[in-house]
Amino acid sequence: MIEAQGLSKSYGDFKALDDVSFNVGAGEIVGLLGHNGAGKTTTLKILTGFLQPDAGSIQIGGVDVIEDPQAAQAMIGYLPENAPVYSELSVQDYLLMVADVRNLANKLDAIKEAVVATALEDRLTTPIAQLSKGYRQRVGIAQAILHRPQLLILDEPTVGLDPSQLIEIRNLIKRLSQHSTILFSTHILPEVEALCDRAIILMNGKVRSDEQLDVLASTSSALLVLDDDVIGAAEALRNVTGVDSVERVSQASARDNVASQVAYRMTAFPNVDINPQLFALAKEQNWPLRELRYETQTLESVFNQLSQSS
Ligand code: ATP
Repeated sequence: MIEAQGLSKSYGDFKALDDVSFNVGAGEIVGLLGHNGAGKTTTLKILTGFLQPDAGSIQIGGVDVIEDPQAAQAMIGYLPENAPVYSELSVQDYLLMVADVRNLANKLDAIKEAVVATALEDRLTTPIAQLSKGYRQRVGIAQAILHRPQLLILDEPTVGLDPSQLIEIRNLIKRLSQHSTILFSTHILPEVEALCDRAIILMNGKVRSDEQLDVLASTSSALLVLDDDVIGAAEALRNVTGVDSVERVSQASARDNVASQVAYRMTAFPNVDINPQLFALAKEQNWPLRELRYETQTLESVFNQLSQSS
C-alpha cells in the first residue's frame, strides 16, 4: 500500500529526513515511533503529497505521489497533527463542507457512515468549539474517513488526550483497521504496543528499526559482565553463532558497578538462545566472568538501546 524509497528532506541546512525507506502492506497497522523532532510529521506530509521530498519516491497503492498527488490523495485519509479547526461550525456542517470540497457522490450516506464509525451521532449539532479534545479528534478522524480511503495516515492521533479519551480513540483506530491500512505516528510506546503489528522507529531523520512486534518479542539479548577488560572480547562475541549484534554498554548496567568491569550486550537472532554458547566461550577463554544475564527484548528496550546509541 505504501512504498517509500530513499526519502530525504532538509529545511535550510537542517536534514530532517535522511534516506528513509519502508513499505506498508495492505491491511497492516503500523506505528511510526520517534521522539519529538525525529521527522515523523515530515515523513507523513511527504507520504500524503503535502510536502515535496528533496530526494526519493513514494507509491501509494501503485500511484506515484510526486507525479500524481491528487490520485494518491483519493486513496488516503489524513489526520494532520494540527487539524484545521472550523470551530464555529457544527459537526454536521463541517462534515458537509468537507464532503462538498471532496465532491463526494453520496454526501449524506458518506457522512452518516463516518459519524457512526466515530460514534459522533449525539454531537451532530454541537459547534466544534464546544467539544472536548477527544471528540474533536473524532471529528478529525471522521473527516479523514469520509471518502472511504484504503489508507489512513494519522499524525499523533492521541496527543493531549486524557486516559479515557485515549482508550476511546485507540478503540476507534482498532475498529477502523478492520477496513483500512493504517500508519500512525506517535512518541508513546504503549500506543504502538496496544495497536500495531509493526513499529518503524525513526531517530534523527533515519529509520533505526523496522520490525514486527512478535519478532521483537521472540528476540532475546544477553548481558555479559567481565571483571576486567579482555582484548578481543567483542570480536569473539560477535563470532558466536546466533549473535546478531554486540555493543559495549556502560558499567551502570552491571550489578556491582566496579570501575574495572566491562559489560557487553548481545542481541540474538529470533528464537535463538545464545547464553549456553556465551557461557562456553567465557569458560574456554578463561575470561573473568562476573555475570551472564538473559534479557527479553521489548519495544521499550529496543527504543532505549537505540536512543542511547544514536
Ligand atoms: P514532533 O513530534 O515534535 O512533531 P516530528 O517527529 O513530527 O516531531 P518533524 O515535525 O517532522 O518531527 O520535524 C523534524 C525536524 O525538522 C525538527 O527538528 C523540526 O524542528 C524541523 N522542522 C520541521 N518543519 C520545519 C520547517 N518548516 N522549517 C524548519 N525546520 C522544520
